[in-house]
Amino acid sequence: MEKNQIKNVVWFKRDLRSHDNLVLLNASKNGPILPLYILEPELWSQGDMSYRQYTFLMNSLGSLEKQLSSLNLDLVIKLGNAIDVFDSLKQKHISLEIWSYQETWNNWTFRRDLAVKKWANRNNINWREYPRNGVVRGLKTRDFWASQWYKEMKKPLVELPKSAVGIYESSDQLPSAKALGIEYDGIYEIQNGSRIEAEKILNDFLSVRGRNYNKEMSSPVTAFNSCSRLSPYLAFGVISIREVYKAIERKKMSLNEIEPSSRSGWGRSLKSYASRLRWHCHFIQKLEDEPRIETENLHPSFDGIREPFFDLTLFEAWKSGNTGYPMVDACMKALIATGWINFRMRAMLTSFASYHLWLHWRETSLWLARLFTDYEPGIHYSQIQMQSGTTGINSVRIYNPIKQGFDHDPNGEFVKSWLPSLGTMPTEYIHTPWELPEKLNGYPHPVVEERHARELAAKKIYEVRKTLGFRYKARNIYEKHGSRKRSPQNTLGKRDKMSSVILQKELPL
Ligand SMILES: Cc1cc2nc3c(=O)[nH]c(=O)nc-3n(C[C@H](O)[C@H](O)[C@H](O)COP(=O)(O)OP(=O)(O)OC[C@H]3O[C@@H](n4cnc5c(N)ncnc54)[C@H](O)[C@@H]3O)c2cc1C
Repeated sequence: MEKNQIKNVVWFKRDLRSHDNLVLLNASKNGPILPLYILEPELWSQGDMSYRQYTFLMNSLGSLEKQLSSLNLDLVIKLGNAIDVFDSLKQKHISLEIWSYQETWNNWTFRRDLAVKKWANRNNINWREYPRNGVVRGLKTRDFWASQWYKEMKKPLVELPKSAVGIYESSDQLPSAKALGIEYDGIYEIQNGSRIEAEKILNDFLSVRGRNYNKEMSSPVTAFNSCSRLSPYLAFGVISIREVYKAIERKKMSLNEIEPSSRSGWGRSLKSYASRLRWHCHFIQKLEDEPRIETENLHPSFDGIREPFFDLTLFEAWKSGNTGYPMVDACMKALIATGWINFRMRAMLTSFASYHLWLHWRETSLWLARLFTDYEPGIHYSQIQMQSGTTGINSVRIYNPIKQGFDHDPNGEFVKSWLPSLGTMPTEYIHTPWELPEKLNGYPHPVVEERHARELAAKKIYEVRKTLGFRYKARNIYEKHGSRKRSPQNTLGKRDKMSSVILQKELPL
């Protein structure tokens, strides 16, 4: 290797794969490469990080190591602050270039990237950042964002580097979760974060499990099996969105070759599924465009409405699955044990905390973030705010947990499997167990009265929505973030049209 040859550091962040990895391919064409992962203790001490995510990451890194070794590359893992790590690499290797995907993640990584950028500029180091999953940095307008995204998905997959020259560098010992200060969090059915597992899950979903996805995604009885369960793999970049999108396209094509009777269910399911991949990026785009939505209400008129009323006792009841509403409590217990729950139940858990219990979403969002193995800040905070009524551009939807129970677990099998104390409760009372107190068996009474709490919350939210200036601000939010096919000028030209557009559901649930 020539002394002054440029050394290309490929900084793996949330793209822990060698497949469909443009950064890896282009860096390998530029000269010898050093594939690097930086394990940052300060990141892992943030309030949204958890044991389950760390465990998943360890699997993903092990798997990445294997993928790279088949390309004759050694993954180098360094422990510490990113700038210190780059600084010491610079001392050793003199001419460095850094290659990575852009990261749209939490506030901490956002600030870290700003600091690394500053350091790179000061040290005349070129840091080449590539757009990730169709999310656009410095987006000027949301018009036509979706069509751009589809164009991105239709591009061919990136091939693996044909040959790559690696640079040897020793790795640091990976600390245990405990040594990093991450406590065990009650999970006992964690998904394995390897690439092999991601491919297996995708194949399995597209050959069998996904057929009734459309019908079965909403009930927690069926969703554990009928949803793809790819979310943590997408969040850590073990598989790319485009790889999944292409697999769906292939599946759609293959349906044309089989008898119509064997196709039933697939058409709708694949359509719903593909649009969710777009939503994934649509929500991350919001955080990219406005990082403050992690901590602040998207619509400022909601500032202060919940903050002074945070009731710790109610928060504890919700966190531990002891609210007295079986559907809420069973979902919380399932989430604690498995790191996953389906979309509708995530929405219900959030809605119950934000409306019925009137808890400000910041604390509850952190609790849920830690419980989700698939924690993805862009989706998470956008959804949390939607389900808490603070975006100003979505219709207010307050989930009644009793109705959700009867609709999505009519026989109480999900509830009974997570709340054994209700094991002998007759089915007709399973979602209103307080009506048969002699069978409660230690299960708590409701912490609030459902209808009263729901109506009170709705009243407070609608009062804010009626205040002067609310619609004007909502219009600006819609222009910046709204999901749309047409331009806002066409849709929002007249004041009387505005309300129907702004108040519509931004995305179908
Ligand atoms: C309050 C709340 C918080 C959420 N937080 C997260 C989060 O931190 N990380 C996360 O990945 N998802 C989050 N979601 C969205 C959704 O619930 C999960 O993506 C989904 O349940 C993951 O399971 P799956 O992979 O089996 O999904 P599938 O239904 O099989 O969908 C496939 C993929 O599409 C994407 N997707 C599905 N639904 C949505 C959606 N509504 N919005 C955006 N993308 C979607 C995900 O990447 C998912 O992996 C949240 C939803 C709510 C209501």
